[in-house]
Amino acid sequence: MLRLTEIKLPIEHQDGEIKAAILKKLGIAEADLIRHSVFKRGVDARRAHAILFTYTLLAEVCDEAAILERYKNDQHIKVAPDTSYHFVAEAPADLSARPVVVGMGPAGLFAGLLLAQMGFRPLILERGKAVRERTKDTFGLWRQGVLNPESNVQFGEGGAGTFSDGKLYSQIKDPRYLSRKVLEEFVTAGAPEEILYESHPHIGTFRLVGMVEKMRETILSLGGEIRFSSRVDDIEMTDGQVSGVVLANGERIATEHLVLAVGHSARDTFEMIHKRGIYIEAKPFSIGFRIEHPQSLIDAARFGKHAGNELLGAADYKLVHHASNGRSVYSFCMCPGGTVVAATSEPGRVVTNGMSQYSRNERNANAGIVVGITPQEDFPGDPLAGVEFQRRWESQAFKLGGETYQAPGQLVGDFIAGRPSTEFGEVQPSYTPGVHLTDLATALPEYAIEAIREALPAFAKQIKGFDLSDAVLTGVETRTSSPVRIKRNADDYQSINTRGLYPTGEGAGYAGGILSAAVDGIEVAEAVARAMLSNKNQD
Ligand code: FAD
Repeated sequence: MLRLTEIKLPIEHQDGEIKAAILKKLGIAEADLIRHSVFKRGVDARRAHAILFTYTLLAEVCDEAAILERYKNDQHIKVAPDTSYHFVAEAPADLSARPVVVGMGPAGLFAGLLLAQMGFRPLILERGKAVRERTKDTFGLWRQGVLNPESNVQFGEGGAGTFSDGKLYSQIKDPRYLSRKVLEEFVTAGAPEEILYESHPHIGTFRLVGMVEKMRETILSLGGEIRFSSRVDDIEMTDGQVSGVVLANGERIATEHLVLAVGHSARDTFEMIHKRGIYIEAKPFSIGFRIEHPQSLIDAARFGKHAGNELLGAADYKLVHHASNGRSVYSFCMCPGGTVVAATSEPGRVVTNGMSQYSRNERNANAGIVVGITPQEDFPGDPLAGVEFQRRWESQAFKLGGETYQAPGQLVGDFIAGRPSTEFGEVQPSYTPGVHLTDLATALPEYAIEAIREALPAFAKQIKGFDLSDAVLTGVETRTSSPVRIKRNADDYQSINTRGLYPTGEGAGYAGGILSAAVDGIEVAEAVARAMLSNKNQD
């Protein structure tokens, strides 16, 4: 099978034009092409008047060797790599030891799924509730301003990305094509097939709920076990080796293989880990606001005359500005046609994030506009200083929002001019339970406010209208990634000072998004499987 890259066609091309492009590129007759398919499709919108689809195509041809020889210097015609997943282990039938996975976000879900598929019958412990019940609790905050600290946007089956835009791409290096395994499992669980070939696939929130349930059924059918409302409050160790966990209800569960997939909001768990002497360090993350514009403004800026074309869908963007005070400001987790959501897991705090439905047809586009911060410069000292830093600004946002879980907000024009906002203009914010207009100048450290003030007009040079006076900022965006890393060895994926502990996913500082967390979960499952087989062989 050959793989052809960088094949460009106009967005409104006919089906037959893909085949014609392959024949032309390879210089072969129709009879010599046995079959072909689309591997990836991206959008090249660099020139808004001439937007193109960029394809990676697979082609089975009659004389592959001859073609490869003819095009040996062409980087865009190569043998297609094997992207199928191959299990690295199989549990022996008499294996009595069981791995325990803490957390059922993408990292824990995929670690659990892979362990189950390899026959290791994992036990998954999740502090939150099953996804349908959790949805009700999440709506409790959004619709009534009532937070359940154990069941919310961050905690519960499916993890933090369940109520999200469901963007499924990442920039991780993936030489084994593990992200393909993730996408294929998602399709088996009900995701649309197009996620396999779109270069920027997304699922939207409602589909994710159903998919998580299907994946749970698969894990159970393979001998896994899942317990909800089961928060791990302690890790037991003997001579630097994990021996078990203790749940919030006092129950003790023995295990020598503990996957820790707790996400970036498990602050109490980070404290426990630190207290236990498990190595944990502070790491950089970002802070900022959410910005909302009319989606039509973003579509027009990105797609010109093609704005609104169904083949392109709602436009997204990615922006970076290096501010004169030395800070980098960038757009984060952009959600086309979506809504801004209340994402706190702690009482008395306000955190924003974004989500969308599969259709992405809400009126506003939203994205985090965030500033990078580092432990050395901004929260030195304790490994958990980043957590305290986040808490401080989330509490301040709660106060500025009127202490009702409304988010503090300001119009972009007023924010740049440095005056408080008093009424909304053209853009109605989507955040519920509501936005309280104020002055955001004290919602973040001065350097961040300064850098964002400078960045918004600079972004307007790339996206016309980005500094629209009526665009709305809401705050604060603090959970962009984990404030800590639970450091592990590169080879066996175990904590650098605690054997049998496998930190994984975003909370451990090894992922930043659904896809990368899921891939990391797979790699950790493989490491656990190898270690368990090796231990068994030594018995
Ligand atoms: P999490 O998903 O955070 O899962 C951790 C799980 O562990 C949780 O379910 C939690 O309840 C559980 N847990 C924590 N502590 C304990 C304990 N002590 N005992 C038992 N269980 C515990 N990423 C994207 O790639 N695309 C997007 O479109 C996107 N949109 C997002 C929108 C929102 C609103 C949010 C909040 C996040 C979004 N993200 C998105 C980020 C993405 O959700 C995370 O990167 C991803 O979920 C991290 O996966 P994880 O498994 O490492 O951790």
